[in-house]
Amino acid sequence: MIAMMRLITYNATMTSTTATKESVTLDPLSRDLLGLIGAHDAEAAGIMAAEAERQATTLELIASENHVSTTVMHAMGSWLTNKYAEGYPGKRYYGGCEFHDQIEDLARDRAKKLFNCGFANVQPHSGANANIAAFMGLLKPGDTVLSLPIKSGGHLSHGLKPNFSGTFFNIVDYDLDPKTELLDYDAIEKIALECKPQMIICGYSAYPREIDFKRFREIADKVDAYLMADIAHIAGLVASGVHPSPFPHAHVVTTTTHKTLRGPRGGLILSDDEEIAKKMDRKVFPGSQGGPLMHIIAAKAIAFGEALKPEFKTYSEQIVKNARALADGLNEAGYRLCSGGTDNHLMLVDLQPRDKDLTGADAEKWLESAGIIVNKNGIPNDPRPPMVTSGLRLGTPALTSRGMQESEMREVASLLDKVMGASGDTATCEQVREEVRTLCAKFPLFH
Ligand SMILES: *Cc1c(COP(=O)(O)O)cnc(C)c1O
Repeated sequence: MIAMMRLITYNATMTSTTATKESVTLDPLSRDLLGLIGAHDAEAAGIMAAEAERQATTLELIASENHVSTTVMHAMGSWLTNKYAEGYPGKRYYGGCEFHDQIEDLARDRAKKLFNCGFANVQPHSGANANIAAFMGLLKPGDTVLSLPIKSGGHLSHGLKPNFSGTFFNIVDYDLDPKTELLDYDAIEKIALECKPQMIICGYSAYPREIDFKRFREIADKVDAYLMADIAHIAGLVASGVHPSPFPHAHVVTTTTHKTLRGPRGGLILSDDEEIAKKMDRKVFPGSQGGPLMHIIAAKAIAFGEALKPEFKTYSEQIVKNARALADGLNEAGYRLCSGGTDNHLMLVDLQPRDKDLTGADAEKWLESAGIIVNKNGIPNDPRPPMVTSGLRLGTPALTSRGMQESEMREVASLLDKVMGASGDTATCEQVREEVRTLCAKFPLFH
């Protein structure tokens, strides 16, 4: 019912020339789209309208999320979804692929240019799927993989037990230095020499500092292992030169396209080694996927084109400046940041020094009620279980896409502290919710 009413608001906005303050203004194509869907399926359109409003009126601080351009967004909703294009450009299993070859070539060429490497496979449906292909291409079942576990900032596709990686491979963990909370390369080398892995993985989901890819390659070479760099989180920063590149050090580089790279939800595999490149192509298709998502590949081509422009470098630099400003603001309010700060787009906040009873789960829930979207996250050696945790992971890619800068980050830090400092008191959350709405209105999302 609420969803239906929202849709009516949208339809009204759509037809009136002056949008009311309360209703979220969508970009013209999205407005038409919602009208079209609404005319055929009011129930689905109502829910979609509600989500547009949620995104436009809340502060998105989840480090793995972003707001794509309207160009990228609408390319995903295109007729390119209608085609089966199993295979690769020039070698398809279906007729009618002329323009699909062209768009996939465009995406591959732009990806290679963006990351300065000789090979790109743009077909993985997601980051986890890219990793499946990389494991299959470089390893045999039962081989040993050395990686950082999820509890310390790694990703589930790097060896978590219930995942394919932990099911079919022998996973050995390395960890962060417990004191500095930084990668300890000497310790990693020592474990590598002991366990003799076939592959070492670097690249993480919750590591706020720079990765020394060169040092990782030296370790890999000592034990004759492949080095896989999963740059899912930092791909946009790498593409912009704001974080060092894994090339020429990594044998294979996997990534998502939807985090700091600000493209459609999907995966990407890169390499500079011709033999590995052939293996990656075979393990994506037919190894682990069927038909590619050609509408997503078109959106990837467009997103890579955007990332090749000078404005994207400015954007990436601003992400990092914003992360520093947010970190400073939190630090001043009494929160401890794991490893002492951030070099990239994200930070891990240890809530305990501010309030030893404050949990990540409570903070996440209270902040959501105030319109601030975050995720609870374990801190290194967290005494609490993963569904509770003592920390938050915060990232600035999405707010930076809205145009926010350092002064807004300081305001966001103070809003975060207001909610957590009041232990989620309802009146405080409601008051902050209004402040969040006002801030969001200054940085419209859909235009
Ligand atoms: C997000 C992430 C992935 C997985 O991406 P999905 O598209 O969700 O499958 C893989 N590796 C790392 C390090 C990530 O942070």
